[in-house]
Amino acid sequence: MPVGTAATVKGVTAEQLRAAGARMVLANTYHLLLRPGPETVRELGGVHAMMAWDGPILTDSGGYQVFSLAHRCRIDDQAVRFASHIDGSPVELSPERAVEIQQALGSDVMMQLDECAPGKAERDQVATAMRRSLAWAGRCRTAWQAGDTQRQALFGIQQGGVHADLRAESAAGLVELDLPGYAVGGLSVGEGHDVMVGVLEPIDSQLPRAKPRYLMGVGEPRDILAAVAAGIDMFDCVLPTRNGRNAQAFTWGGRVRLRNARWTPSREPIEPGCSCYTCRHYSAGTLRHLFMADEMLAPTLVTIHNLHFFARFTAAIREAIASGDLPSRSRQWLAAMAPADADGQDPLEGE
Ligand SMILES: [Zn+2]
Repeated sequence: MPVGTAATVKGVTAEQLRAAGARMVLANTYHLLLRPGPETVRELGGVHAMMAWDGPILTDSGGYQVFSLAHRCRIDDQAVRFASHIDGSPVELSPERAVEIQQALGSDVMMQLDECAPGKAERDQVATAMRRSLAWAGRCRTAWQAGDTQRQALFGIQQGGVHADLRAESAAGLVELDLPGYAVGGLSVGEGHDVMVGVLEPIDSQLPRAKPRYLMGVGEPRDILAAVAAGIDMFDCVLPTRNGRNAQAFTWGGRVRLRNARWTPSREPIEPGCSCYTCRHYSAGTLRHLFMADEMLAPTLVTIHNLHFFARFTAAIREAIASGDLPSRSRQWLAAMAPADADGQDPLEGE
């Protein structure tokens, strides 16, 4: 899922988004809660109308952004209270309110409100956040069941940091609630690839195969491959759009940095053979020029290519699953994307 934070996938129209191969998009409850506000979204016809997008939309609960963006954040078992990072106004978000807001937004999949402990938190703090999140899953479910459960699905979120027993306790509690889908939260917060893979390893036995399993905020190609192998079905990530805006293109041969002077005379597309709009019409040299000249078309064109790349990448994964050779193809893809992607330690230019 490409990320459409403020009810827009930055820099592209819905038509471009669809042509690039996107099927489902994510919108951020926290941002829409603060601006323009859920009642305004409802008056405007909901997130589908605002985004001119008739495909499925998932909204997060806002919890993650509250903890990462808001000011003066205070949490207890009842709710989280914070000050808007935009104008400092006080806001309260409870599990019930998170459901109510997402009903106003009108997404197809809503997420439970959860507490994500910081990456470096002590075990006690992680356990408290996990158990609070589990209790909040139950309260979200009650609030969700009072509405139209056919129109909007509710996903629970597993927490528990890097602790296997806490992850198991969280998964078991969520499965008992019999929700339409389950997410794995609290990863991609600096724990590193190998630790993440370790946390995901038991997922296939912990969460039901018949329901969607969604890994939140993960999108590095090698992380996606490892997570799919562990049984994950869904992802969201800002990489295709954010990196695209920063002149970085994803390709099957690794990342391309278009600000690099080596592209100045290039008449080749970003990725020869790519069927995206950008690669069919623009050379890498032209794209580099547009970035150097700060032209607004440049971020749009590279975003289109990156969205197309991730759509093809995930389509190729689905084909490899169907033909039974995902492990060997994963190794081939990662070798071709090396070294930039194999170590995952590729600092972004311009950020
Ligand atoms: Zn392309």
